Amino acid sequence: MQTYSHQLASDILCTDQLGKIVCVGRNYADHAKELNNPVPKQPLLFIKPATAAVSMYQPIAIPQNLGACHHELEMAILIGEPLTQASEQQVEKAVVGIALGLDLTLRDVQDELKAKGQPWERAKAFDGSCPLSAFIEADGVDLQALDIQLEINGVLKQSGNTGGMLFSVVTLLQEISRSFTLLPGDVVLTGTPAGVGPLQNGDRLKASLGDLITIETTVIPAVAGTTGGGI
Ligand code: ZN
Repeated sequence: MQTYSHQLASDILCTDQLGKIVCVGRNYADHAKELNNPVPKQPLLFIKPATAAVSMYQPIAIPQNLGACHHELEMAILIGEPLTQASEQQVEKAVVGIALGLDLTLRDVQDELKAKGQPWERAKAFDGSCPLSAFIEADGVDLQALDIQLEINGVLKQSGNTGGMLFSVVTLLQEISRSFTLLPGDVVLTGTPAGVGPLQNGDRLKASLGDLITIETTVIPAVAGTTGGGI
């Protein structure tokens, strides 16, 4: 399998490799509602391993024959300093980059796991389950005022604003750092707005974060045996 390295704007000082991707479920009320999930009182956290990351500039390879593979477009945060039991100021200093990420989710597999009360890794942590764009400098950007949009084949599917997060980036990172340490090179995905749905082979995707990042890519079938796994 291909190995992933962060693509960074030249002004970002982070030479560390990706360690883990921390994700938050149900961080936009409208998305929690569309999947009939309760709005959480505490962020719902899960982790994708570094092997989940791929460049979003390559075609997105989705597992075949494992049911629906949903797109969840999210703002991604690049961590530049260690965060353990972090204060607001420490968190603000540690956010060095922002990008777009897709939290690809095998929804049928996830529904089965949920029904059995089992963890979600088989649905969310497979190889290639986290396509990431290049990171741009976060300094001077209002992280809670960015439109986030995904078009598929010219049709707007997901549209939200990071102001709609239930837990802001700062609150989220503080909360994560109370449970476990974030290290330089780690990435945090901040949740998806409403409009998630299945990807199909051949789909053309156009994703944007405000007027800061726009990226176009396509969906292809993953080669059998290289990704995913049944229950
Ligand atoms: Zn997600």
